[in-house]
Amino acid sequence: MSPALGVMLKSGPPKPIAVAIKITGDCIDCNACPPECPNTAIYETGVEWSLSDGTSLKGSVALMDGTVVEATALQSPLSTTVCYIVPDKCTECQGFHEEPQCVSVCPVDACVPDEMYRETVEQLMSKKEKLHI
Ligand code: SF4
Repeated sequence: MSPALGVMLKSGPPKPIAVAIKITGDCIDCNACPPECPNTAIYETGVEWSLSDGTSLKGSVALMDGTVVEATALQSPLSTTVCYIVPDKCTECQGFHEEPQCVSVCPVDACVPDEMYRETVEQLMSKKEKLHI
């Protein structure tokens, strides 16, 4: 048996990795994507966001970077030039749809994978469960 296969058998098959989606500067601000997001993760340009918008999150919640915030607290916009996606709320539509809805509806292909946020499908499903208890 090859060493690589031996390692794979011990640790099991590699877990599929998914990434969050981000909106690039190609965005034309048509606002087609915000209504399609099952997690209310997409905000219009310059608008403040909160974890509790469109989710059942309450109380203190730890963000992916470890910062703890109140779910209802308004947070600074992540972009003042184009629509933006909050990575802490994006599950790449896992548990809702077969494919990311923002990617499907964007007329200029401005919704693309965000390599900064790599999560397993398991982690994304767990995030989805936390967002919608
Ligand atoms: Fe929302 Fe899905 Fe797009 Fe993530 S991939 S921002 S969950 S529509």
